[in-house]
Amino acid sequence: MTDKYAVIGNPIAHSKSPQIHQMFAAQTVQDISYEAILAPLDSFAATVERLRAGGYKGCNVTVPFKFEALQSSTRVEPRAKIAKAVNTLKFANNEIIGDNTDGIGLTDDLQLNLKIDLKNKRVLLVGAGGAASGVFQSLVTLGAIVSIVNRNKEKAQLLATSRSFFTNLVDTPQLPFPTNNAKEHNSNRIDALGYADLVDQQFDIIINATSTGLSDEMPNIPKSIFEHALLAYDMMYGRDTPFMKFAREYGAAVVSDGLGMLVEQAAESFFLWRNVRPDTRAVLKKLRAESPIA
Ligand code: NDP
Repeated sequence: MTDKYAVIGNPIAHSKSPQIHQMFAAQTVQDISYEAILAPLDSFAATVERLRAGGYKGCNVTVPFKFEALQSSTRVEPRAKIAKAVNTLKFANNEIIGDNTDGIGLTDDLQLNLKIDLKNKRVLLVGAGGAASGVFQSLVTLGAIVSIVNRNKEKAQLLATSRSFFTNLVDTPQLPFPTNNAKEHNSNRIDALGYADLVDQQFDIIINATSTGLSDEMPNIPKSIFEHALLAYDMMYGRDTPFMKFAREYGAAVVSDGLGMLVEQAAESFFLWRNVRPDTRAVLKKLRAESPIA
């Protein structure tokens, strides 16, 4: 019998997840269906219950329901607890298991597809919303030294201080903080900055986790920051954003959108549900051909 899965969001029409999971299923010969479901803004929990009652095995969750998905879970995996958000639900044995695959999706894209070794790299994470919160611990776990910058600096500080909770769950190395801005760091591996603090700072990797790409805006980061960057990465996908154009113009060695992250986080969800790892390279290659970036 075909096992049913879905992605729930609002809006959802733009989602590439059905296409990605159908490609994974064909490649690994798994008998599944996967559809996009638009949930009314006040009906996420009811939608999940409807899917469970209808025999679905799990679902992905996207904007704006990742926090509600955490609340709906009867069991939450550690990485979703740290992220305070859930993007994957698995329905099994009367449990709703909540997990978050965004972090591993990003780090797999950086390491496997873009061949970036994160160990001891200075990473600037721009933004402190749901996406940043989903990925920061994966970056730190792989040895990156992360600075979070956000328009609302308090949110960046909150994210950085959630490290104490993180340390209780995951054992990470404690090394001296090497950037020249030591004044506000509150752990050896993560600190929080405002945009004004970025003047004269340098980073190896700059990751745009803001939603500025959606409105064709650019976060207020100085152009000098790209001069020695190995990589400028925008989590947004499907368009050449102002951040990507700016990074290219001002010297970043490699510029990427977030399409690879999308495919890799989907692969991790697929693995959680099916215990089979799809070949993401073939899927990414096909999607990239449909959605080239400059
Ligand atoms: P949220 O709404 O949770 O957070 C938005 C963030 O953007 C906040 O930090 C906000 O800052 C910042 N921001 C918004 N406008 C501006 C601006 N004009 N200047 C500076 N900062 C701004 O969104 P998400 O974190 O969920 O998503 C962020 C992006 O990541 C989206 O583009 C989304 O598509 C992408 N994403 C991609 C994934 C992938 O698989 N490739 C997975 C998940 C997300 P403030 O707090 O100050 O308001």
